[in-house]
Amino acid sequence: MTDKQQKRISGIRISTVYIITLAVAIVFSFLLIFVAIRTNIVYRQAEYDTDNYVRIQRDAYGMQRGSDQLTQDVRSYAVTGDIVYLRAYFEEAEITRQRDRALESIRSTATDSEALAHLEEAMAESVDLMDQEYQAMLLVLSASGEAVNDLPDVLNKRQLSAEEEALSETEKRALAQELVFGGAYQQVKEMISENVKLCTERLMEMAQQQREASTARLLKMRDWQMILIVALLLIIVATIILTTLLVTRPLEQNIQNVQDNKHMKAIGAFETRFLAESFNRVYEQTRQHREQLTFEALHDPLTGAYNRRAFDSMLAECDEANTALILVDIDYFKQINDVYGHPAGDEVLKRVAKVLSEQFRSEDHVCRIGGDEFAVLMVHVTSALSGLLQGKIARAAELLRQGEPKVTLSVGIAFGDRVKPSGSMLNDADAALYTIKDSGRNGCAVYDGNKMGQKTGEE
Ligand code: GH3
Ligand code: MG
Repeated sequence: MTDKQQKRISGIRISTVYIITLAVAIVFSFLLIFVAIRTNIVYRQAEYDTDNYVRIQRDAYGMQRGSDQLTQDVRSYAVTGDIVYLRAYFEEAEITRQRDRALESIRSTATDSEALAHLEEAMAESVDLMDQEYQAMLLVLSASGEAVNDLPDVLNKRQLSAEEEALSETEKRALAQELVFGGAYQQVKEMISENVKLCTERLMEMAQQQREASTARLLKMRDWQMILIVALLLIIVATIILTTLLVTRPLEQNIQNVQDNKHMKAIGAFETRFLAESFNRVYEQTRQHREQLTFEALHDPLTGAYNRRAFDSMLAECDEANTALILVDIDYFKQINDVYGHPAGDEVLKRVAKVLSEQFRSEDHVCRIGGDEFAVLMVHVTSALSGLLQGKIARAAELLRQGEPKVTLSVGIAFGDRVKPSGSMLNDADAALYTIKDSGRNGCAVYDGNKMGQKTGEE
């Protein structure tokens, strides 16, 4: 097929459709992978934010508990003077460090300056509070007069003022209790609690916001995943529909057309249209070639009349009772060839075939069955129409006589419904023809079983 013919064929190329759908599917798949990775990261962030929230809550609780523990120990010591409580205090303050650990944890988490400010304030107040607690412990130690040799450094380094030293044992205990039970102590403790509360509230609020933001991002990622999965499914469905419309269905229809010996339809994709048009062209060429071969197999190349093979076949298959066989032989044709030449003889043969075809109906068959011998198989006719038939022969003979070179015919007719057939219709028509030849040519005889027709020609 030429480029011009290819350009004339419309239709989407299925290869183009496949390239586009494949490219789109690859892009969407990569997007899906990207979104899946992002979802994983966002999920981990959300998990971290949730953990953070829980840790801040735990630290706030730990700090409060540690602080209460210290207060309880120092107060117990101030009331009882039992050294066990003093030791428990320092155990908590220097080894267990519940409160300090919680504070450190919060400090490491806190990135917000406002929260940190509250925390620093609480720390400063805490230092003040411990200062009072140490002072109270020194007063109780002094009041009890107990010699404790493994006192923590912070206590060893401190000393009572001269006024405090001068106080009585009971006054010292009363002052110590005042220091850890009094309104000022309680007030600082509440301020610490308040600052810690503000700090943790602020941090928890932020952690909550981050957690909500992460959750929102996670939901958004999930939506994107759904959209991309649906898009990929749509691409698959679209590919199936396009393949069906552009390839499968056109091929199925055209397979049926080929089975029904019909042309293919130029439908579907460019490729199936191309295939259909190529097939149709080859089909048409083959059909024409076959028709030509069939025509040539059944026709005489010179005159275009049916040839002997076609004649034999038509004679064998005809409805004999309603058929007439007319045998026509050109008189002295050899002489025509000799006098005018072979090409002129050919022209005479063509003229005879043409004149006979014009005189008879299109459904009657004019055949050239020998060199200068013709046969007409006339259908739907009986001997009742003998006169009409002889009239046609007479007109043909008349026309041929008028031409140059002048041609006369000898004609023998046998009707399928003849009364006394002596042999086949062909034999009897031949017998009739030879009665004309024998009686001097240029005439027409109808086989009648006895005397053979009359000579109708004129010299
Ligand atoms: P008759 O009157 O007895 O029919 O004699 P005739 O000369 O017509 O018949 P004959 O059978 O003796 O001669 C037929 C001639 O036809 C012989 C042959 O050279 C010639 N012929 C056969 N086929 C062709 C053809 O295709 N073209 C031409 N020009 N002549 C042909
Ligand atoms: Mg002849």
